[in-house]
Amino acid sequence: MRNVIIIGSGPAGYTAAIYAARANLAPLLIASSVQAGGELMNTTEVENFPGFPEGIQGPELMNKMQEQAERFGTEVLLDDVTEVDFSGPVKKVKTGYSGDFEASAVIFATGSAYRKIGLADEERLSGRGISWCATCDGFFFKQKTIAVVGGGDSAMEEATFLTKFADKVYVIHRRDTLRASKIMQDRAFANEKIEFIWNSEVTGISGENALDGVTLTDTVDGSTRELPLDGMFVSIGNDPRTHLIHGQLDLTAEGTIAVDGRSSRTSNTGVFAAGDVIDPTYRQAATAAASGTVAALDAEHYLASL
Ligand code: NAP
Repeated sequence: MRNVIIIGSGPAGYTAAIYAARANLAPLLIASSVQAGGELMNTTEVENFPGFPEGIQGPELMNKMQEQAERFGTEVLLDDVTEVDFSGPVKKVKTGYSGDFEASAVIFATGSAYRKIGLADEERLSGRGISWCATCDGFFFKQKTIAVVGGGDSAMEEATFLTKFADKVYVIHRRDTLRASKIMQDRAFANEKIEFIWNSEVTGISGENALDGVTLTDTVDGSTRELPLDGMFVSIGNDPRTHLIHGQLDLTAEGTIAVDGRSSRTSNTGVFAAGDVIDPTYRQAATAAASGTVAALDAEHYLASL
């Protein structure tokens, strides 16, 4: 049986692993079979993580975090957790390929998943003109006309990045003011290839084998119009990834895992949670890392008390 299993490999998971490993807990970190490193693997330049004054590429930052966690004895497993059972004092974790594991404590740091618009054709044309990741798919839209949906920091970042490839990038936002921070807004406003379409929602998607356009509905007067597009990037936020623990841990009204005050203690003794999965508000790499620190310290105290 393990001391502690950490589920998730974003900044929260790796930071928890660094602390737990340095506390000689020999943590097992289950990182995902498809892509270890979490959301920052889909990001380009990270400019606001302390310690990197010139900025750092998201994947490089995550590789460094993994290296640092491994250096102190973290075992990183590239597999998916398919089921957890937190009903007893021994926590059980099933994986897709590597069998079952048991631990006295679990740190749950599964982050959040891209939100979908919720249209039937969105799924059908996913990877055929519709994408959630500009760094992954931007290259396919050289000299094309594309749109980014959303008004937050991610949408501005994606839109600005995509102007490297596309001739024209519309930003479709449901209101007439952005949620994004001032610096990200200013960067997008200053970019000649970006045109904002305000007060509009995507209510229809067309295209036989690949996306060829969307229907926009005006959120003020309800009128509709068609917009021809070669590509669309959906950047409307994230939802906490909690499907594994439904019914086993209490959630907040916002859908994040409920924790006790500023701690990482969940409603189940011995299970701790950290990062975006508990945070409906800040959701930064630096806050997730701090949250992972808290979880490792809480888990360490808990294990010492057993
Ligand atoms: P976000 O801040 O939650 O913004 C989501 C955007 O999508 C909002 O503009 C929202 O509109 C819109 N939206 C939500 N649901 C929608 C729907 N169903 N249909 C149409 N539009 C919808 O999410 P985010 O931009 O992904 O950012 C998440 C967090 O990461 C934030 O804390 C952000 O600051 C951070 N982040 C930081 C950086 C950076 O600093 N470099 C980069 C990326 C992300 P409303 O505005 O009307 O609600």
